[in-house]
Amino acid sequence: MPSALTNIQHHLREGSLSLSELVQQYLSNIENTKELNAFVHVFEEDALQRAKVIDEKIKTGAALGKLFGAVISIKDNICMKGMPVSAASAILKGYTSPYSATAVQRLLDEDAIIIGSTNCDEFGMGSTSSNSCYGPVKNGFDPLLIAGGSSGGAAVSVQMDCCLMALGSDTGGSVRQPASLCNVIGMKPSYGTVSRYGLIAYGSSFDQIGVISKDIDNISTCLQVIEGQDDFDSTMMGSKASTSLSRKYAIIPAMFDPNNPFTEQIKNTAYDIIGKDNIEEVSFDYMPYLIPCYYILTTAEASSNLSRYDGVRYGHRAEGIDNLNELYTKSRTEGFGPEVKKRIMLGTFVLSEGYFDAYYTKAQKIRRLISDQVNTILEKYDAIIMPVTPSGAWPLDKKIEDPLEIYLSDVYTVLANITGMPAISLPINHNGSVVNIQLMGKKGGDAELLNLASKILK
Ligand code: GLN
Repeated sequence: MPSALTNIQHHLREGSLSLSELVQQYLSNIENTKELNAFVHVFEEDALQRAKVIDEKIKTGAALGKLFGAVISIKDNICMKGMPVSAASAILKGYTSPYSATAVQRLLDEDAIIIGSTNCDEFGMGSTSSNSCYGPVKNGFDPLLIAGGSSGGAAVSVQMDCCLMALGSDTGGSVRQPASLCNVIGMKPSYGTVSRYGLIAYGSSFDQIGVISKDIDNISTCLQVIEGQDDFDSTMMGSKASTSLSRKYAIIPAMFDPNNPFTEQIKNTAYDIIGKDNIEEVSFDYMPYLIPCYYILTTAEASSNLSRYDGVRYGHRAEGIDNLNELYTKSRTEGFGPEVKKRIMLGTFVLSEGYFDAYYTKAQKIRRLISDQVNTILEKYDAIIMPVTPSGAWPLDKKIEDPLEIYLSDVYTVLANITGMPAISLPINHNGSVVNIQLMGKKGGDAELLNLASKILK
């Protein structure tokens, strides 16, 4: 399957390929990889219908949108008008969205085709795509391994050529981590770059829609279409200052444990391909605070965001109850999965009157200190080189007794969300193996980051 949009568009224009055929091909790849559980819903009829319309436009020479020929999957927490969306939660099963997310609408306006919605962790909470009411996503390299999460289905949909690109959401690494475990590219833009309107909220000050693809130019083209001001999201960043490049990269030694061969290989690969002279070691004081800061603030925001699922307004409602409090309790007990319940309780605790200052306020202060230090580093360097994960994909049935172990594996990805910086995970072919490296750039410097990444990949 061609993986560059420009190539697909060339063949479509030439007439050596029709979009209907291409969509059929993706649909049969979806069918053939069904056991990986990457898709929740396939929008077959809608996708084929749109392909026909666009094929007709190509034939007649009508004006075409920038994304004609791009077939895209959306994570099951991104809304599309008339389509089911559930954030992989039983509490939203059966819900159909009455409107499209801004990002989806912009894709459609440029003639992209949305082929279906992808499986994920419930409300984006997890690192394995196993916390889903639809069952776990499996990795295309080996179905016994995790695909990563929470956008595991999105990563697999690209990995297995079920679409050209995937929209996911990244609150603490959910685009970059599954992309890396599936050896595809995953980009989380700066906070406030892509509108969150129509993205089901997890941690609103961390959430950002991101893009997964095998080709970096596809990601640039897609982001150019979906980013930018939106009246429906008041946290958009506004105009971006263009940043000048110093051609120097920073690396934080505390992120690399000499006893961990997995991260050591990442460091060595970075030095090999970027060159020792272009990388400098910098100190960063807050490594031990990243995970506590992230989990205190995101659970607090999640507990507030998820209070809207009360069995009254929309979503699952427990049956046969005539007492309001019982109705709330039973609907939420039945609708939410265990990880989501755990986080709601944690978040409610850190926001409670007696503990608010000790946890929530403290974490906010730490967030500021972390951001300030990262900003200072990035004044001097174009990007910080980091691992994406501390290890490769682990077996789906691995017994993890200590839930903290999974939380701790997010240590390299949460930094970009705590600070709002853009970050990208890149699968790099080096000495016969694929090594996934993460680059984090300056806030608002998304285009520059993509440029750097593209040079590294080529
Ligand atoms: N693994 C992280 C979490 O569980 C990140 C999730 C995300 O980015 N949506 O919160």
